[in-house]
Amino acid sequence: MILDKYSFGIGDRFGQQGESQLAAIMKAKRMGVEIAPVWNKSHREHSIIGTMPADVRAEAQEAVGSMMWEGTYFVDADHINLKNVDLFIESSDFFTIDVAEFINQRASPDEISNFIDGCVKYIDGLTVPGIEESLVVTENVVRAIAVKYLSAVKQAGRIYRHIASKKGLGKFITEMSMDEADTPQTPVEMFFILAAAAQEEIPVQTIAPKFTGRFNKGVDYEGDTERFAREFERDILVIQYAVQEFGLPKNLKLSVHSGSDKFAIYGAINGAIKKLGAGIHIKTAGTTWLEELAGLAMAGGEYLAIAKRIYAGAYSRMEELMRPYSTVIDIDPSKLPEPMVVAEWSGKKFDETLRHETASGRYNPHFRQLVHIGYKVAAEMGKEFTDAVANCERIIGPNVTENIFERHIKPILID
Ligand SMILES: [Zn+2]
Repeated sequence: MILDKYSFGIGDRFGQQGESQLAAIMKAKRMGVEIAPVWNKSHREHSIIGTMPADVRAEAQEAVGSMMWEGTYFVDADHINLKNVDLFIESSDFFTIDVAEFINQRASPDEISNFIDGCVKYIDGLTVPGIEESLVVTENVVRAIAVKYLSAVKQAGRIYRHIASKKGLGKFITEMSMDEADTPQTPVEMFFILAAAAQEEIPVQTIAPKFTGRFNKGVDYEGDTERFAREFERDILVIQYAVQEFGLPKNLKLSVHSGSDKFAIYGAINGAIKKLGAGIHIKTAGTTWLEELAGLAMAGGEYLAIAKRIYAGAYSRMEELMRPYSTVIDIDPSKLPEPMVVAEWSGKKFDETLRHETASGRYNPHFRQLVHIGYKVAAEMGKEFTDAVANCERIIGPNVTENIFERHIKPILID
């Protein structure tokens, strides 16, 4: 099973927007850009919402069937580990193996020295085609990388072999993710992480490193965009070289777990992949759910009231909701409007405060992040919430499509 050059991870918390999401991918296709849709949902999301991996497969199949999509599509077991992977075996054919937890868990001295022996060729000068200066690599550098990352890659190997034993070789796509780590990985680290993946014989088709800067949920990139651009290009060059050197899958590409809306770096991503002829996998996470909430607000009346109740619930349970997302949000509670104030808002005001349009002057990123992680409150409303969304589908659906196409696909792959 081969992942296409371009693929888009479309998370959908409540599983009702599959068709509207696919419509965005079909729009790109009509413009000559082929993208494989990948419906992704993590164990964390499933447990917060109370859905099962089979629900994601059902959503994907339904969307693909009703929209008559003839291209490939995948269902991603997002951020799985050895403890929960079994829940996903049957319904998924794309596995994002998350080993961030195993970073810094020192492999044995033997494993570390074996790894260094296998990398002797690159010590005292790693020259990567496309990168002008040679990268500084000494035995100590390789040792430090092994100490930090080897046990994580070995764990990825165990999880990969476990999945392969159940699904069969070549029957699924493997992604290795370290994006929820504490520190970013440099291009040199990436090279040796891929060396370790090759030693473990993991046929990794996408790799999600932690990039420099902050990738908070649903809000823009924060960090040094020039540094990001430089490292991103180097990451691609390192991958292209590693593919040749280690015999990794030829379509191996970067996966950007964007947390959505990283508008500030989309241009750099677009420029680098086109310049180097590289593929890309983008996970847009949960802004589809934000479109649902914005749509309810705009619908007004009882639907606006539901949106306000969700905000009030999220506000009062802020700490609990923030806990599972602590590494990927920055909410300043003093910048959040009180629910009593929000209760007086019009639908337009709610929408403008939530909507990521910095030019409007009314957008509040703290409000947006809190709502982003507040889907648990909506999930607890059960049918009341999902029925409301279904009733407002005429407003929500086109917004979901437009959000994915205009604000993400276009700047990253088309412009
Ligand atoms: Zn991620």
